[in-house]
Amino acid sequence: MKILLNKNDLNEALNDISNLGFVPTMGSLHTGHVSLIKRSKKECKKTIVSIFVNPTQFNDKKDYTRYPRNEKRDLSILKKLNVDFVFIPKKKDIYDFKRKIKISKKDKILCAKYRKGHFEGVIDVMERLSKIIKAKKIFMGEKDFQQLHLVKNYLKNKTKSKIIMCKTIRDKYKLALSSRNLNLKKEDLNIARFISKNLINLKNKINQKKDIQNIISLKIKEFNKLKNVNVEYLELRNKFTLKKTSNKRNSKIFIAYYLNKIRLIDNF
Ligand code: AMP
Repeated sequence: MKILLNKNDLNEALNDISNLGFVPTMGSLHTGHVSLIKRSKKECKKTIVSIFVNPTQFNDKKDYTRYPRNEKRDLSILKKLNVDFVFIPKKKDIYDFKRKIKISKKDKILCAKYRKGHFEGVIDVMERLSKIIKAKKIFMGEKDFQQLHLVKNYLKNKTKSKIIMCKTIRDKYKLALSSRNLNLKKEDLNIARFISKNLINLKNKINQKKDIQNIISLKIKEFNKLKNVNVEYLELRNKFTLKKTSNKRNSKIFIAYYLNKIRLIDNF
């Protein structure tokens, strides 16, 4: 496994690799990340994983500081997986020129509505990374569905890399794995698991429910009564257009909520 710490190392190492799979991460790796890496290894000749806690996508400085970092552990996981390359750039390697990303008004929904500048930062870093890595395929998680949707649309005509959606990996209690779960207290973890199970049940039952919007409003109230929970949004949207819908067909439930100060997102 080659560890690449700057753009020069990267260019040298990736010269002549055509069938390259790329898994972008912010580190603190868990089984969700591992599933993306395994898929890349299966579909591509060589795999590169990046670890970069991207400052521009954090709308809250404290959130950036609090974000878990476990580089030593990450490297040992990646070594065991026999990953070919790990890219751990510095800020100056990525942000070597200035520019401003804008997302359209119609996209300012869900997390884009509540985390000002977040997706502009995500899109910015993803375009910069994909242009220097030039992978054949980029593997991203369904867990961050809106991120995947926006990045895919934005990069469509800008790079040749194909974005591959990988399914969400959950723990045995149905909670989606996330690096942020590391910051949850035990009792909050149990509440997060309760919310996930509850929404999986709701999604399975949507067919029989007539007034889905009413049910969703009641769910928000129910969840907000749980200790430390503050729901930011809970919405049913079409999974292709991300437009609001009351129709189960091609829909997904999207949630973002705070548990104490930790913000969790998921979709079902
Ligand atoms: P992050 O390190 O949180 O930026 O995530 C890096 C990539 O891993 C993103 O494409 C995420 O969508 C994906 N990912 C995060 N959690 C999961 C999960 N539980 N299952 C599958 N993919 C995930």
